[in-house]
Amino acid sequence: MAQNRRKKNKDLSKKIAEERIILLFELAEQNFKTHPERTKRYVELARLIGMRYRVRLTRDQKRRVCKHCYDYLVPGNNCRIRLKDSMVQTTCFKCGKMSRYPYYERPEKE
Ligand SMILES: [Zn+2]
Repeated sequence: MAQNRRKKNKDLSKKIAEERIILLFELAEQNFKTHPERTKRYVELARLIGMRYRVRLTRDQKRRVCKHCYDYLVPGNNCRIRLKDSMVQTTCFKCGKMSRYPYYERPEKE
């Protein structure tokens, strides 16, 4: 039964890790305006927790992080988002590099 317990603990720590990552992204969001220098640290911690517990960031979380300098991105503030050929193109103002993601959601009618 020891094996079962170990598995349970593993699942639990994964769940805790997921919750911590969500919390760190919330903190980054809250601190972006008042303490922008903190946001990168929150993202860094979220990534470390993800690696440690093998928890992947959600699609939305990944899109809030620059692929190149790992800074927290806030559209209209420190990054620019453009749609191009069913791809979302994010330009980070800090490192000036572009990240691209496939554009899944249906485009809104104008
Ligand atoms: Zn960047």
